[in-house]
Amino acid sequence: MIKELSDLGKTLRSQKADDEWVHDALKPEPINVELIITSDGSFQKFNLIEKKQTISEAITAKKGKARLLLDKAEEVLCYGGEKSKSKHELFLKKLDAYQSLPELAPVISFYNSNKTKGADMALQSYVEAIPEEKNRKGNIGFRIQSEGIRIHEKPEVLQKIIDNYETAQKELMEGSKKKCSICGQAKYPVEDIPHGMIKRVPSGQSSGCALVSYNDTAFESYALQGNENSSICTNCAKTYVEGLNWLLSAGNEIVIRTKKGKDKTSYRYTNRKNFGSDTAIVFWTRGNKALSEIDQLEAPNPDDVNKLLESVSLGKEKDSRYVEADQFYSCTLSGSAARIAVRDWIETSLFDFRKSIAQWFKDIAIMEYDSSLKALKTRYVGLYNLARSSQNVTNDKDVSLSRTASYLWNAAIKKTVPPLWLLTKVLQRSRMDEYGVTAERASLIKLILNRNNKGGGFMVTEKIEEGLKPVAYVCGQIFAKLESIQFAALGISSIRERYFTYAMTLPAAAFGRLFNLHSKHFTKLKNEKPGLAINMDKELQELCKDVDIKSFPATFSLEEQGQFAIGYYHQRQRQFNTSNKN
Ligand SMILES: [Zn+2]
Repeated sequence: MIKELSDLGKTLRSQKADDEWVHDALKPEPINVELIITSDGSFQKFNLIEKKQTISEAITAKKGKARLLLDKAEEVLCYGGEKSKSKHELFLKKLDAYQSLPELAPVISFYNSNKTKGADMALQSYVEAIPEEKNRKGNIGFRIQSEGIRIHEKPEVLQKIIDNYETAQKELMEGSKKKCSICGQAKYPVEDIPHGMIKRVPSGQSSGCALVSYNDTAFESYALQGNENSSICTNCAKTYVEGLNWLLSAGNEIVIRTKKGKDKTSYRYTNRKNFGSDTAIVFWTRGNKALSEIDQLEAPNPDDVNKLLESVSLGKEKDSRYVEADQFYSCTLSGSAARIAVRDWIETSLFDFRKSIAQWFKDIAIMEYDSSLKALKTRYVGLYNLARSSQNVTNDKDVSLSRTASYLWNAAIKKTVPPLWLLTKVLQRSRMDEYGVTAERASLIKLILNRNNKGGGFMVTEKIEEGLKPVAYVCGQIFAKLESIQFAALGISSIRERYFTYAMTLPAAAFGRLFNLHSKHFTKLKNEKPGLAINMDKELQELCKDVDIKSFPATFSLEEQGQFAIGYYHQRQRQFNTSNKN
């Protein structure tokens, strides 16, 4: 996974224009305040500029380090008194290392020969000049009053940073000839330094999380220290961090129209999906191509799904753009304080990826009555809505929704079998929730039943079954029929609320009671609407022909409960259709 992330980082670097290129020794950083001095190092004023980006020395970790000429007030001014002293000293030590640069002369006077009019005065004026506490938290950079460029941005200064970096790398390489476990080369050193922070990981620290880190000697071996244990060279470390940061943030602003007809802008990620509040999935291909199939998983459009199914089933994919040997990757991440938990890693060919998605749509397809078309039509439910249908979602912090969505993502992309506990969950929601067996739930039940069906069992199709059907399925149909007869007779239907769970789990006992109730409903209906009563009874008798109603099983297994729910769902969709036609 790290190798693929690093390769992605390298691809992104190669795609950058020359003027966008930033050397490994440098890094963009925000700057908040300019400290204006004269060329003899006298303090002039502070200039609040509020978080502009600037280029400066790249330092791999903040702790125990100071950045050349650009840092916080503690480092630059010794702001905060005694407790900032060690930070300030680090800053001065860094300046010392670069003192041969003529560009630094004014700053060196500011701290040394001209200290009273320089650094001391700056510290005295600081709080008054920057009254708001929050503005005192950003970086401060030096600028000579008469110049338009900040000192740390001068080409000579940047070049010196690069030279020092490269010399240090060479020295490290001479010290050890260790091969990198990612690129297999000994071109860059393997060092015990942080690899860089991964930003925007859900539930992670806002300052970023580490993908690889060793915080305890228990994780170390062969006398290696910290990140040396990972054997990742500095170049691969940088590129995997860049690759992963890009995946987590890439996207663009789009304008969406709200239900009230207002336009609002929203950020659309191109390579990331958020599942719940604590999980994100990032995905990409080796060639870094856009993948329309992923959008289909989230919000399927029946026409596009049909095109996909057709091209895969006809073997047309041979002519398609996927014939090239591209690979698909995805990893599922959660933040865990300063770390990242990798929940899943998927690597598959683009060819298999596409076949899996096509199979996914076949498995989740379900017929639904569409009241605007007044007809049954195939519905494809979005992946996240499928996951949601199995949950009692009371708040966004509920992690079981994101876990379920992650399982389904794996099932969609790798054609894996969803676990049976998910069937328990969705059946529970079908029984407890006022909307009962919705299209989303029926679709999820169908997927789980069919993928768990190993060898010759009953396969659920998207619409009502004809021919040989399992008893549980027919029982579900009969239940739907009894419910509609009750509704025709009384104008209400309460049997689902009261008997659905009972009928689904203990059919023999439940249907005894249900048929008793039914005879009362039927008598009433026959007196009031004899025509309707005869028709409905005929339909019920048709269904009862398929089973022996005198000897229903005492219990239904979990899978049978699933079949019951599907039979019930299919029958109801058919009834909506016929009753509206009549
Ligand atoms: Zn490497």
